[in-house]
Amino acid sequence: MARNLRVLFVASEAVPFAKTGGLADVVGTLPNALKDLGSDVRVLMPYYGMVKQGKIPMTTVAENLEGHLGGTGLAFDVKTPESGDYPFYFVERDEFFERSQLYGTPKGDYFDNLERFSFFCSTILPVCQNLGFQPDVIHCHDWQSSLVPVYLRHRWQGAEILNGAKTVLTIHNLAYQGLFYKEKFPLLGLDWSLFGIDGLEYYDQISLLKGGIVFADAITTVSVGYSEEIQTPEFGYGLEGLLRARASALHGILNGVDYQDWSPENDRLIPATFSKGNLAGKAKNKAALMEAFNLDPKLSKAPILAMISRLADQKGFDLVAAMLPELLDQDLMVVILGTGEEKYHRWLAQEAPKYPGKLGVKIAFDNALAHLMEAGADMFLMPSRFEPCGLNQMYSLKYGTIPIVRATGGLADTVAQADPAVGSGTGFLFTDYTPEAFAAAINAALKAYKNQKQWRRLVENAMSQDFSWERSASAYLNLYKLLVEGE
Ligand code: ADP
Repeated sequence: MARNLRVLFVASEAVPFAKTGGLADVVGTLPNALKDLGSDVRVLMPYYGMVKQGKIPMTTVAENLEGHLGGTGLAFDVKTPESGDYPFYFVERDEFFERSQLYGTPKGDYFDNLERFSFFCSTILPVCQNLGFQPDVIHCHDWQSSLVPVYLRHRWQGAEILNGAKTVLTIHNLAYQGLFYKEKFPLLGLDWSLFGIDGLEYYDQISLLKGGIVFADAITTVSVGYSEEIQTPEFGYGLEGLLRARASALHGILNGVDYQDWSPENDRLIPATFSKGNLAGKAKNKAALMEAFNLDPKLSKAPILAMISRLADQKGFDLVAAMLPELLDQDLMVVILGTGEEKYHRWLAQEAPKYPGKLGVKIAFDNALAHLMEAGADMFLMPSRFEPCGLNQMYSLKYGTIPIVRATGGLADTVAQADPAVGSGTGFLFTDYTPEAFAAAINAALKAYKNQKQWRRLVENAMSQDFSWERSASAYLNLYKLLVEGE
């Protein structure tokens, strides 16, 4: 098609406004890359308390528009930042979004998340009408915007402004599905006939994500590996049959890395920059990292193994716990940065004092420290049970910090098994989810580390990898074109 595509992103978080996970990085970065390829991309998201607190100057572009909760009309305003690379529109209705968090507190999810996000989805039509924006593609993300494809087919058939719009649903993590009691179904404003096996019903509950999977024109996940895994019972959460049935509409597109933020050559958060050709800075960062975690200076020739992660079952901490004593028996250091589940906070607080100078732990979300760890460590551990894409292994590659990962999802797609003797590969993988298999991969890495020439070759291979957003953006654009032109 000759003219530029008009794309509306509908999402529940985006950097720099509000973030709980990788979704925010995607929504805050991908539109720019799409814009560089000539698309007219706009983003719609809720006006959270967190966005207000960011104090980014905003103007009100529309007042008193009408969204819906079930059959009831509810007023909202639309705000937009005064400047930015592409337009963001924020749906303002304080009753739903003026809260301390996005989805819930440590005590649990907000009780009215169905109301909050079904209302949010309902605002798309009035917003597009008000702005006179006729999207070719509406790109939804995760369960929070999964109702949009449903509404397009079953509520908005007569709406001219959305006529012909195609929908894409990206699943960033199938573990989060937006499940709610069926008694709330009338609040969605849909006919009860849609609460069935071919609609939004999931084991007698409402699954918003399932609605999106059933009705979106295309579904994507954030790596090819994960797109295949979620079609199997082990990873599919009971949706594997549906995903298999929709396999021809299901695509894996790897997330990109924002190399503006994550490049050792120009990282402003680390003491010394470095490059593939000049690794001297990496040694300086290692020294700074050892100091930051109070590690034993006598161990400076030994490798540092790092982990930066949400402390959640998904990330493989049970494997780490099972082999930590044996691991720390060797000539090496381990540093762990994370926040998350209480049980892991307790466990790490217990372990750290047992290994003074060898195990460094920080329970926090600390971006600057994350950069120092990527820059100063020698190896990076990601023994995830499942990993839709994963970012840290890609950062690690760029910083010459050799990843040791479980061969699952995006990890298997981005890390190539090393063969130090021939100088090939970029990291070490293991398949079985067992402490033994994880330990074997670490031991292979430790063995390679002892031969500095071989290790240097792996570091160079790793640092040569390129997972920039441009590649991903082209893949999304091709998909959009296929949908729009393929009628
Ligand atoms: P997920 O989205 O499942 O949490 P990813 O690897 O895709 O995992 O992305 C996690 C992102 O959050 C990365 O950018 C990582 O560096 C960052 N991160 C996670 N935990 C911390 C932490 N405690 N401190 C700083 N950054 C963190």
